[in-house]
Amino acid sequence: MTHVSGRHFLQIPGPSPVPDRVLRAMSAQVIDHRSPEFAELGHAALSAIKTIFKTRQDVVIFPSSGTGAWEAALANVLTEGDRVLMYETGHFATLWKKMAEKLGIRAEFIGGDWRSGADADQIEQHLRADTNHEIKAVCVVRNETSTGSVSPIADVRRAMDAAGHPALLMVDTISGLASVDFRFDEWGVDVAVSGSQKGLMLPPGISFNAVSAKALAASKAGGTRRSYWDWQDMIGINATGYFRHAPATNMLYGLVDAIKMIHEEGLQNVFDRHQRHAAATRAAVRAWGLEVLCSRQGHESGVLTTVVMPEGHSADQFRAKALHHYNISLGSGLSKVADKVFRIGHLGDINDLTLIGALSGVEMALGKAGVPHDKGGVAVAMQYLQDTPAPGIDA
Ligand SMILES: *Cc1c(COP(=O)(O)O)cnc(C)c1O
Repeated sequence: MTHVSGRHFLQIPGPSPVPDRVLRAMSAQVIDHRSPEFAELGHAALSAIKTIFKTRQDVVIFPSSGTGAWEAALANVLTEGDRVLMYETGHFATLWKKMAEKLGIRAEFIGGDWRSGADADQIEQHLRADTNHEIKAVCVVRNETSTGSVSPIADVRRAMDAAGHPALLMVDTISGLASVDFRFDEWGVDVAVSGSQKGLMLPPGISFNAVSAKALAASKAGGTRRSYWDWQDMIGINATGYFRHAPATNMLYGLVDAIKMIHEEGLQNVFDRHQRHAAATRAAVRAWGLEVLCSRQGHESGVLTTVVMPEGHSADQFRAKALHHYNISLGSGLSKVADKVFRIGHLGDINDLTLIGALSGVEMALGKAGVPHDKGGVAVAMQYLQDTPAPGIDA
């Protein structure tokens, strides 16, 4: 391998770049996970993550990627033969549904075209039709990382209430947490799933289940047979600051520090920064004469922007050129949209110049790959950023 100078631009929608400060926090020596010192770390991590979910209820931390926490969420409250309603926002919603089916859960899918988030009215109609209240849970992806669309969770909650349906509301906010607004308690979410390597600016390795009192009661009464992933035993011991098994101690150091950084910036400023960068990115894409995959206004993601390739051009060949010439990693199209789209991640530890650098890499790579486009998208994004106050900086 030859050496490539300068830093790599990791512009995929997770894992996102880990701030140096968080890397340093994680490089501490491992400590005895039954020591009094650990209990302080455990308490700090558990109370910090609750501020990000905006909950006073329980959050369980697992040593796994987000997929493990998906399974934990399903297994704790649902069992073979149970019916759930899911919404096809894209690739990740589809994977969650497939997982439910593997667990023997009967998942109904509201079909989508992968160009918007979930439609709350359709969920309401399905729930109204379920007059016997057989549907045990509604599962929605907050930020669909394969498409760059967000689902309006408060609207979904209102739809469920309007239908008078008692199903649990389960939300995948794996890539949305700490990058787009999320309010577990206020929105009446029952189970929220997240992971470390997206908005939380950590490496992959730990995942989360936020759990409402209603979901905890459901888990006590049923769910799938389980042991390692069981919430109750974990919540029991977490009250003392400890974990049941060897915790991912160094990830917890990183988590506490990353959340400190988020609050030093201001959680709302973090959300606003993501929206502003997403708007600048969309402006660049449109100036290039290309199309943003999310077509529903108000559903555009702050986390990433998915760009549709012109007909007859390979998104993967374009991404390979971008990596080779400009040392930038862009996200690939997944399953249904493989090779047809690419994804620009603008989440986590980035600023205006990071974004402009990334967009410059895209614009130059479009040229290198011979993709038809208009020049000047970066200039449009620069103008947007110059004209639009930066939260916490200009205000
Ligand atoms: C990343 C992601 C997942 C999968 O998480 P892993 O950590 O890769 O297991 C699931 N859902 C969404 C929305 C994601 O962004």
